[in-house]
Amino acid sequence: MNHASASLLLDGLLDCALSAAERDAVATHLAECAICRRQLAAAAHTRSIVRGRLEATTAAPPELAERIRRQLAVHARSTAAHPAAPAGRGTGDGPVAPPEARETSRWRWLRRPLPAYHAIGGAIAVGLLTVAAGGWWLTAATARRAAVETVVGLSTQHHLFARDDKAMEVEGEADAVAAWLRAHVPFPVVAPALPNYDVEGGRLVAVEGRLAAQVIYEEEATGRYVSLVIGPASATVPDGLRPLGKYRVGGDRDLSVAMWREAGVRMAIVGPLPESVLVALADRLVFPVGWRDVAPVERAPERGKEAAPRRE
Ligand SMILES: [Zn+2]
Repeated sequence: MNHASASLLLDGLLDCALSAAERDAVATHLAECAICRRQLAAAAHTRSIVRGRLEATTAAPPELAERIRRQLAVHARSTAAHPAAPAGRGTGDGPVAPPEARETSRWRWLRRPLPAYHAIGGAIAVGLLTVAAGGWWLTAATARRAAVETVVGLSTQHHLFARDDKAMEVEGEADAVAAWLRAHVPFPVVAPALPNYDVEGGRLVAVEGRLAAQVIYEEEATGRYVSLVIGPASATVPDGLRPLGKYRVGGDRDLSVAMWREAGVRMAIVGPLPESVLVALADRLVFPVGWRDVAPVERAPERGKEAAPRRE
């Protein structure tokens, strides 16, 4: 997708109004185009301001709040009663969600805050300033810029895809999600257990122009999302991130990223939590014994080649 086409679809992306094919194409373009990333951040910032003002000036009637609570309770029950099948999504051959599932999906979206794209915009601005400043600290600036780019890339993927059930390409139990992802990337992928969180699903994402696997977790108590993004060994852990134990951490007040290496792959955990909390979460990941020995599928298909039959 070229720049002109992609920039026209950014609003639709924020509205979750794109088809799976369009969303993938825009996401791929975003990974390569800093202009579109800034445009997306600016549009999201504007929306968050408008939304914040609406919320500040409009008190919801008590009966609406009660209705929302009831809908959420219904959704919680239906999710428990009908766990998602471990089948690929967005293939065009999957079952169409029944009307009540679409309804609850909308409520899910309502109870989550609008992603803080303005923070991403800020991070990009910091990166640009750093580059523009140049000078004797050029090496540090380059490292910082790489770190900012990485954090922006991971944050964007988390914001774009973690909150939207329809954006997941596979749903179900952790093992099924890991198996599906493993079949699509040429490096070991696992969906480790995380206490008090459920694996919701996964998808393939582009981070720094490389294919990576994103596993999405939802905290049982709060509905808060956290992503685990697993990338190939060739993906770097930028020096510009702050070391914290075995991790390197970065982010902003709304969203943090902690990266590390594990069994030759690069892992990153991304979530709306302070860095120290996110690192504690990463420490609690329970990797299955021997997962490092699970060889990736012999010849992983490249995403572009497989794309055509998966389109809707
Ligand atoms: Zn562009």
